Amino acid sequence: METAFAYTRRILKKYELRAKKSLGQNFLTDDGIIAAIVEGSGLSPEQAVLEIGPGTGALTRALAKAAGRVWAVELDAALCDVLREEYKQFNHVEIIHGDALEFDAGTLESADGVQLIANLPYYITSPLIRRFLEQRRYFQSMTFMVQQEVAERITAAPGKKDFGILSVAVQVFCQARLLFTVPASAFMPQPKVDSAVVRLDILPQPLIKPEQEEVFFRTVKGAFGQRRKTLVNSLCQAVNLSKQDVANAVESLGIPPQARAETLSVSDFIRLAQALSAL
Ligand code: SAM
Repeated sequence: METAFAYTRRILKKYELRAKKSLGQNFLTDDGIIAAIVEGSGLSPEQAVLEIGPGTGALTRALAKAAGRVWAVELDAALCDVLREEYKQFNHVEIIHGDALEFDAGTLESADGVQLIANLPYYITSPLIRRFLEQRRYFQSMTFMVQQEVAERITAAPGKKDFGILSVAVQVFCQARLLFTVPASAFMPQPKVDSAVVRLDILPQPLIKPEQEEVFFRTVKGAFGQRRKTLVNSLCQAVNLSKQDVANAVESLGIPPQARAETLSVSDFIRLAQALSAL
């Protein structure tokens, strides 16, 4: 089979296209990485995939081989035309022109959950992850490439320097793993940063109930809001309670009052949110 590098160059040349920096277009040209993404996602042949940002289609090509159904949402209209032409003989591949930040995964018809697989446009990594988490009920798992620094924050364990709001926001809903890192040389053109692929398996039972989400996230944001302050000091303002009340709640959970947010586990945050909302 034509290599991903040769394929990407051929498509760009044939349709007289150039990568658009403004849309985060860094095309994957390494066959080993593409194969590792598909394998790492755990995709099985009967499953359906939602790809975000198919670009020139090097990953789409591999997904079309490995999955029963592929939907690919691309913002660049010119690339949509290219992909529709190149993939017209694949009845199970549908190219959708649109903004992934507004795409409603509930419109996809799939019996047993969709796998989200993507090499994300980095200029909107954070809002995209937020969007995916909001729509998590439609996905079984999500395997995507992001900046290595973001991958480390998503998967960080409590007590580690990268552990923060993003780690807690993802890990309360998903089991998160960093699968492997990817050098900038795997892309055309090369991005300025190294990358990594993460896999998020949606927990069948999230660790918090929907009605607890608001207070949980207020607690987490408050706790991490002022990194140099102790937990109690950062929290009083965020939850609008007195220092004494917050200190009592923290101590009643066996958490040292001088603790810092990054040393708490996800379940500590859940217990803390429950204790504070009961006051
Ligand atoms: N999947 C291709 C690959 O691996 O070679 C391209 C990945 S490239 C990093 C990101 C892709 O996302 C680009 O094709 C870009 O046009 C597309 N994109 C950018 N913003 C988008 C958005 N808001 N919604 C959907 N696609 C978007």
